[in-house]
Amino acid sequence: MQLEDPMDDILERASRGMPITRDEIAYMYNEVDIKKLGMAARLITDGITGRQVSFVSNMIYNYTNICNVRCKFCAFYRTGKEEDAYTLTPDEIVEHVRKMHDAYGIRQLLIQGGVNPDLGISYYKEVFSKIKQNIPDIGINGLSTSEISYISRKEKMSVEDTLKSLRESGLDTIPGAGAEIFDDEVRKILRRPPGSGDQWLDVMETAHRIGLKTSATMMFGHVENSYHKADHLLSLLKLQEKYHGFLSFTPWNFEPGNTELEKEGLVSLRVGGEEVLRNIAISRIVLNRHIPVIQSSWLTNGVEMGQMAIYYGANDWGGTIYDEKVIPATGKKVGNLRKETIIRAIRNIGMVPVERDNGYRIVKTYL
Ligand code: SF4
Repeated sequence: MQLEDPMDDILERASRGMPITRDEIAYMYNEVDIKKLGMAARLITDGITGRQVSFVSNMIYNYTNICNVRCKFCAFYRTGKEEDAYTLTPDEIVEHVRKMHDAYGIRQLLIQGGVNPDLGISYYKEVFSKIKQNIPDIGINGLSTSEISYISRKEKMSVEDTLKSLRESGLDTIPGAGAEIFDDEVRKILRRPPGSGDQWLDVMETAHRIGLKTSATMMFGHVENSYHKADHLLSLLKLQEKYHGFLSFTPWNFEPGNTELEKEGLVSLRVGGEEVLRNIAISRIVLNRHIPVIQSSWLTNGVEMGQMAIYYGANDWGGTIYDEKVIPATGKKVGNLRKETIIRAIRNIGMVPVERDNGYRIVKTYL
């Protein structure tokens, strides 16, 4: 008699878009063969976007590295006293973004920095409105929930009013940074402020309720276990069912270099490729069509792993990179990645590259 494989039942329900339980997600993390997960995840993705893989002409700009949160996993922040601490003026930001836009046809600006106590809402409104006045066709994907919460507290405004005010000045979408793992015990070890997981979900829910779309992320490969990741994915799914405000999900692996977690010996090595692909595949199986875009996060893993992630269920490459500063702070080389390289990388694995804008609308297909 052949024993039934519990995974068959999970996949059968996943193929019909049915919910997967916490225990089943942990089981997929702990026991299921990676190839089986990958094939199932790719099949689901084929049913959503077929062979198309999207990317965006993007630039990442870190307007300040001064931050009063001081997370243990972050090698980017400065307290403000160091020689290399910096904050750019609105005019410096606009000038640089315009230069990049003109040179590379940038459609999306991902702008975020630290939680800088000196910056109030007027700074952000000036930055966003000046960008929109000077470069109206660029989409602004800006600020983490930590930055937004801090601005609202500093200005004694509700999160909803803060978001509405930032949107009025030009903010289009909010990136998913700061989600890490929602569990409070894990966040305590990462030195995230208490309650900051719930705060992330609250800010995102408020944004979705007023029609501001956002992205979601999960950082794995540090001190979390399979149940923490399962709970994280299920929290995202629960919120998505309310307003459908998440445009995409990116699972990304922790880079320990130059971080306090590494110095204290809590995490010494980054996870390997198998773990990266497992997270891509499981997130696709769990989030399914509810969050239709899973990003490959090539940034921390290189072009080849970006290609593998597509086979394991990702359908978005993310963006071009020019001048990113957060990952290089860990000692990892990122370099720049131009549009032509992305198109070639997607074509080389037999997929069809499609260029999108900040709102995930397709603007060009590269047949
Ligand atoms: S991860 Fe963000 S909030 Fe945490 S220390 Fe770094 S810049 Fe600050």
